[in-house]
Amino acid sequence: MDHVLNIADNYIWTPYVYPASWPEDWAPRQIISLWVLTNLGALLIYLGFGAISFYYVFDHKLMKHPQFIENQVRKEIQLGIASIFWMSFPTVVLFFVEIKGHSQLYDNISESSLGWPGVYLSIAGFLFFTDMCIYWIHRSMHHRSIYKHFHKQHHIFKIPSPFASHAFHPLDGFLQSLPYHVYPFIFPLHKVVYLSLFVFVNIWTISIHDGDYRIPGPLICLINGAAHHVDHHLFFNYNYGQYFTLWDHLGGSYRHPSALLGRGPHDHIRKLMAEAACTQ
Ligand SMILES: [Zn+2]
Ligand SMILES: [Zn+2]
Repeated sequence: MDHVLNIADNYIWTPYVYPASWPEDWAPRQIISLWVLTNLGALLIYLGFGAISFYYVFDHKLMKHPQFIENQVRKEIQLGIASIFWMSFPTVVLFFVEIKGHSQLYDNISESSLGWPGVYLSIAGFLFFTDMCIYWIHRSMHHRSIYKHFHKQHHIFKIPSPFASHAFHPLDGFLQSLPYHVYPFIFPLHKVVYLSLFVFVNIWTISIHDGDYRIPGPLICLINGAAHHVDHHLFFNYNYGQYFTLWDHLGGSYRHPSALLGRGPHDHIRKLMAEAACTQ
């Protein structure tokens, strides 16, 4: 985040916003700046990519599904925005510790002992580590004693739209985002790669809620796509994964997507419409 903070300082904060008596490396100023940037960045990604996905990818026929609740999109967006706001406080603490140099983030490829292969390895490591952690955190959120207090808010939406992607109880959302922040404190990661992965995971989260259930055949059993995740929303105890199905296979919670077996939300809508046509 120090790159983002430096750019904002150079072009906006220092010349136009903060008084000259507030030095750029003054902690309270850095925390305020990080909080504003975290909120703006997260809202831009959530609402920007969410809107693109909603208008260009999401099949609006899904809104006719009986389990698509009244004013659902508005409810998803309200919960998503509130969640981003509350999550930003603990997230900024982690970003602040990170910009103070306590993480293993580095600036130049030459600082990586493995060079470019190290960069590729760190991307694979990041995806594996965060997928594994999110699987277990997500599965824990389904434990009967805590589910109703936190994670139930995300499962109100049985047929999610892309805007359900960030619609969580703030504590639930923060816990599920924690692996992304923890990774660079344990493993070396290039700063630009970290920022890119942060944007990528947000877009991926939107994509598994986008109602586009198509997935290339050979990837069905490997990649956790929207078809897998809608079954998670509908049937709860299956497909907890984020990018891959690995931990669902290992944890015994994998469910082959109903949408790919002719029993998905679209098939349900078609059946209802055919029945309605017959009774007319
Ligand atoms: Zn869940
Ligand atoms: Zn979901």
